[in-house]
Amino acid sequence: MERGFTVVVCRACEDPPCLKACPTDALRPRKGGGVLLDPDKCLGCGHCREACLIKAIFWADEINKPMICIHCGACSKFCPHGVLKLEEKEVNYAPR
Ligand code: SF4
Ligand code: SF4
Ligand code: SF4
Repeated sequence: MERGFTVVVCRACEDPPCLKACPTDALRPRKGGGVLLDPDKCLGCGHCREACLIKAIFWADEINKPMICIHCGACSKFCPHGVLKLEEKEVNYAPR
């Protein structure tokens, strides 16, 4: 508590390392960047969490699966200091 808090939010990688690390194709590219999780395919191995360079993947211990941002923007509405903002941007790459 003495050092405050750090916000870590998925950066919606265009070429997500987390996706590449998944052995079961439980992660698929999300339009606009980042990934979407198919929990039925997930083994709970944690490789995606290790692969994320900024440590933006958190863990749901009760179901042993990753929690990965889907860029819904809900969190941005709760920050009174404007730290978080959801913006739409033009994407000029094809999702894999
Ligand atoms: S925890 Fe699930 S989503 Fe992550 S790498 Fe393992 S199988 Fe894939
Ligand atoms: S969870 Fe990490 S590696 Fe995956 S898309 Fe987000 S920032 Fe990139
Ligand atoms: S509230 Fe939505 S945008 Fe914010 S971290 Fe969670 S999933 Fe991502």
